Amino acid sequence: MTPTRSNRSKRSNHTTKGVTSEEQEDGAAPAAVAEATSARPLAGRVALVTGASRGIGAATAKALGAEGASVAVNYVHSKGPAEEVAAEIERLGGTATVLQADISDEGQCTTLVNDTIAALGRVDILVNNAGITEDGWFRKMDRLAFDRVINTNLGAVFTLMKAVMPNMETRGWGRIVNMSSFVGQTGNLTQANYAAAKAGMLGLTKVVALEYATKGITVNAVAPGFIETDMVTIIAPKIQEMLLAKIPMGRWGKPEEIAKAVVFLVRDGSYITGACLNVNGGVVTAY
Ligand code: NAP
Repeated sequence: MTPTRSNRSKRSNHTTKGVTSEEQEDGAAPAAVAEATSARPLAGRVALVTGASRGIGAATAKALGAEGASVAVNYVHSKGPAEEVAAEIERLGGTATVLQADISDEGQCTTLVNDTIAALGRVDILVNNAGITEDGWFRKMDRLAFDRVINTNLGAVFTLMKAVMPNMETRGWGRIVNMSSFVGQTGNLTQANYAAAKAGMLGLTKVVALEYATKGITVNAVAPGFIETDMVTIIAPKIQEMLLAKIPMGRWGKPEEIAKAVVFLVRDGSYITGACLNVNGGVVTAY
């Protein structure tokens, strides 16, 4: 794992000064301590966003940075794009660090959290965003393909939440947002592994939310519909057309529209826990 911090962060005009002792009862940081302002309400907070080099994770990291949070930008392969995300956060006056880690590996999850704390001092916000697909018909899907998707999309969420909790508990404030999918609610042909992981994430979110409800730590999920990222643009054009026809709003969602939902849960969700926020253009209305 290689922590990289670009030069820009050294001349950032945003501090990561902690909100260590004077948390308010609703978990909001006193402005004087956190240096939060209405323009940068998450100033003083540190966010770890997994899979933040591209797509929804990149948009979320930038949106949290724009709200004033210092951001650990995680990636597994895309170092350049991850560095670009960090540079963008710093261009907007924030602080970011870039951390390589393969979250499908339990040990690397723990190291990722430790590296975030070493680089930025703490973890207040965890966005479990990184995810993969490995689609195939159930009859042809082997156990290895099932396990790879479960490990990355669900196992990592378990491990990362466990790893951040002690740090969040010391301050009695934390926000966890798990990136599920409408597929975890409805199922989808050829996605047995992915649907199982995303549905499992919803159950996991609810249990951890209940267990930490008195500790100032909220745990929620966001369930996107079809969002215009590499995950969708790799789909064959003919199938894309069919999928588009199924979206009541008639268009793909944008990564920034998912990022807004995450920011809402983090910034304004002090009384929201165990919830799943659907952001799907009407694809699913029953949940
Ligand atoms: P994406 O564009 O394919 O980006 C995936 C991100 O996850 C990349 O940053 C990638 O890092 C990272 N990643 C993958 N495996 C990783 C690993 N083992 N360790 C660390 N990072 C890893 O995906 P996306 O569309 O933005 O999706 C983000 C999340 O939203 C996923 O959980 C996905 O299931 C969920 N979602 C997406 C849609 C959609 O329509 N796009 C719909 C519902 C839910 P590298 O760049 O380094 O490979």
